Amino acid sequence: MFDLIVSGGTLPDGTQRDIGIRGDRITAVDALDGAEAGEIIDATGDLVSPPFVDPHFHMDATLSYGLPRINASGTLLEGIGLWGELKQVMRHEDVVARALQYCDWAASMGLLAIRSHVDTCDPRLLGVKALLDVREQVRDYIDLQLVAFPQDGFYRDPKARENTLRALDMGVDVIGGIPHFERTMAAGAASVTELCEIAAARGLPVDLHCDETDDPLSRHIETLAHETQRLGLQGRVAASHLTSMHSMDNYYVTKLLPLIAEAGIGVIPNPLINIMLQGRADSYPKRRGLTRVKEMLAAGITVGWGQDCVLDPWYSLGTADMLDVAFMGLHVAQMSSPDEMRKCFEMITTDNASILGLRDYGLKPGAKASLVVLDAADPIEALRLRATRLCVIAKGKVISRLPRAEAALHLPGRPDRMRRRHRLATG
Ligand SMILES: [Zn+2]
Repeated sequence: MFDLIVSGGTLPDGTQRDIGIRGDRITAVDALDGAEAGEIIDATGDLVSPPFVDPHFHMDATLSYGLPRINASGTLLEGIGLWGELKQVMRHEDVVARALQYCDWAASMGLLAIRSHVDTCDPRLLGVKALLDVREQVRDYIDLQLVAFPQDGFYRDPKARENTLRALDMGVDVIGGIPHFERTMAAGAASVTELCEIAAARGLPVDLHCDETDDPLSRHIETLAHETQRLGLQGRVAASHLTSMHSMDNYYVTKLLPLIAEAGIGVIPNPLINIMLQGRADSYPKRRGLTRVKEMLAAGITVGWGQDCVLDPWYSLGTADMLDVAFMGLHVAQMSSPDEMRKCFEMITTDNASILGLRDYGLKPGAKASLVVLDAADPIEALRLRATRLCVIAKGKVISRLPRAEAALHLPGRPDRMRRRHRLATG
């Protein structure tokens, strides 16, 4: 007897399986014909996936678009300035309300694990306190990891070190940084060293905003790879963005890729925001600014797509849809073969889960009973359609349902009803 069975769905690897759930755990992934259950959800013909995972987000800023004004230039630097203005007037309850609203969106999109940076350059640590509250409030349906993020520079802001350490003392999970925003390359490199030493001393993971610039000489990733090795942090370090690698000298990149791989650093490009913000100072040709994703994958580096921003000082769109994120990444990185498109789906599910160190993740007996049923036949169709999440289950409970997308057509000689699902011709 199961509490819940999701029957007949197609898993991302193409196999068809029933999934049996007891309590908050998956207890069977098999053919469960005739098994009894409190509820059976028929997923025949639909894709059943482990939940989406976002490894890079800013939940303290989300849904603040237009407060106190709109980013007129659209640049990263104006966004940072605008965020500085908003921080002065933010209230705890506003941050909590915006974050909870975003978590509702995420839940409905099957996005059930999020790593959010939270700004620690604020003597009140208002965002930190608010998101620690939110982490507690959503824990039954979203795994929220928080990164102590000194937005104004660990050294550039004279109080950043003290406030970042306070945030870690309060229970923030990961240490962050922004070396390319320090005043000099030397200060940036020194910040990487000190942040990694703090992580080593406290047993914490590291996730830096690293080289988010078009400057090909921004090479903090080299220092990060070195410090990861020196301090034995392999497997605990993530480098977000790495957009300078787009513009770097090709020979230097052939040295750098093996260093990143050796250090076991997970890489998190954020394609929506990278394609929007990078190359702004170029005329033509205009650089895309996304890091070298295909080359990293070929070098054996774990790469996961991140979302970064939704409706905030840096990005004026977004819907908590990781399929949108992968769809953009797929285009900008030109990952168009069937294998590459399937990889893009893995990047927003299993690969991101691996970068975040999530335990009990996946569609296997013993794993947390969290999954999403999509109105798509397979991962590639899910990407093409940014498919409707028909049903989202978190820790054994159905938390969201959406009706199947189907149009009623009024066209002479054509069918009454139409879906945009499409079975590919084979052979
Ligand atoms: Zn970010």
